[in-house]
Amino acid sequence: MPDYMFLLESRLLPEQRAALLRVQELSAALGYNVYLTGGTVRDLITGASLRDLDFTVEGNPSKIARELEKGGAKVLVEEERLRHVEILFAGDCEGSISAARDDHYVRPGTKPEYRWSTIMEDLRRRDFSLNAIAISLNPASRGLLLDPTNGLSDIERAEVRALTIHSFTNQPVRLLRVLRFAARMGFKLEQRTQEWFDLAIERDLQHTITEEDAGAELRSLAREENPTAILKSWEEHDLLETVHAVLAKKHPDYDAINRLNKVRDDLFMAGLRPRLATPMMLAILGRLKEGEQKSLLNKLGFKSAEIETILEFDEETTTAAKELSGKKMAAPIDAYRFLEKMPTEQIAYLLAFSSNSGAVSKIRAYLNKWRPMRQGVTAVANELTAIGMPAGQKFDAIVQQVFAMQLTGRGKTPEEREKILRKLSGIKEQPKPKETKGKDKKAAKVGAKPNAPAGKVTSPVAKAAPPPAKPAPTAKKPGKKNKK
Ligand code: ATP
Ligand code: MG
Repeated sequence: MPDYMFLLESRLLPEQRAALLRVQELSAALGYNVYLTGGTVRDLITGASLRDLDFTVEGNPSKIARELEKGGAKVLVEEERLRHVEILFAGDCEGSISAARDDHYVRPGTKPEYRWSTIMEDLRRRDFSLNAIAISLNPASRGLLLDPTNGLSDIERAEVRALTIHSFTNQPVRLLRVLRFAARMGFKLEQRTQEWFDLAIERDLQHTITEEDAGAELRSLAREENPTAILKSWEEHDLLETVHAVLAKKHPDYDAINRLNKVRDDLFMAGLRPRLATPMMLAILGRLKEGEQKSLLNKLGFKSAEIETILEFDEETTTAAKELSGKKMAAPIDAYRFLEKMPTEQIAYLLAFSSNSGAVSKIRAYLNKWRPMRQGVTAVANELTAIGMPAGQKFDAIVQQVFAMQLTGRGKTPEEREKILRKLSGIKEQPKPKETKGKDKKAAKVGAKPNAPAGKVTSPVAKAAPPPAKPAPTAKKPGKKNKK
């Protein structure tokens, strides 16, 4: 059996690891058992990227949330009735904490009654076996895998398997979910699940999916890395119309989705991890008029703040692009500082769709030249130390000044930079010791101070030039987006 704790720790980003340790500590302090569950465990096992951390506790998640807030985490959604909180941990790491519960259906298809339960009951009430696996984070059993429905073997067979014959009757939204997971992972439906699916469609259960549930699926879809495959699968099964009739009629804007996905790859290559939910939602709805987009989002139960974020995104981003290409940003260092603060979602949106070539070329320079150059700033600091500059405010200011000059193409070689550094710091080059012969030469060597700045900088670190620029991204030239 693989060591799941090792797998987990080696796959987590540092901020995810910190969040996991904190939830583990708080649960232990409150006397709750805690498990990693759902998508996190599935993605860990299949090798997919771990974009969020789903925890289940045998206890009250709100108590943990209150403590996490004290440490800077943000609670995004808190559903008291479900005992479920969605959290943005420090370092922009997304996750959720839910109380372990059993969903009790009096009759198939009725609204379930929630009963707080143990982890095993919680796993059995889930939708598909591949989502019903947990890893214990408790001191006595840390790393133990709980797989009561045999999800591991379904993952090995590349199948999505529903857990009961009533699965789709109890929650018709699982018709959308089962296709979403199958398309995302390239899995097929397990044979009986396929039969239950067909039967549900025959009974027209898809038309009983609530608007709120369909909205939640659309929200999840916009967070997917490849929404195209899922949307096509929904369209093939005539299920897109159950999400929204106008979207089904006008079709998703596949071209816009593909462009955004291409940009996601480029950003990834440049070392950024973009979350593209908002621009992706706009891309999916790209063939709808703004009024239609608004009414769709309203109908599907999106909150007004969410709708505002989505519908104002285009205008906000266009305004930011104007500022970026304006006169005030003529100096690369100003553009650099501006782009450092620009949300990656906006950067991606501009690269994919903007016709503001000034802004786009600055973004390209930022990604491919300026950011790699910024990594060379440590070398500049070492060089400054080597010529004898003590640490302090002036030191930091000089390093920043040199970086600003590097952005304009100056200070490329160590020799050039030494000249600049000496000029800015006012530290003159020491005259080279005169050549002496025989005994005198030896004496001169012994007498020389090892740390004295003697001519050229010799430390290999100090000599290191900034890393070479990465190749330019190959994103297609942005076209006009069909917005209105
Ligand atoms: P993603 O990668 O899209 O976040 P996920 O599996 O984490 O995938 P979520 O919607 O975040 O999906 O749900 C978390 C977990 O909650 C799921 O893995 C599943 O176990 C359970 N779950 C979610 N929706 C349902 C549902 N309708 N019926 C039963 N279980 C569900
Ligand atoms: Mg999840």
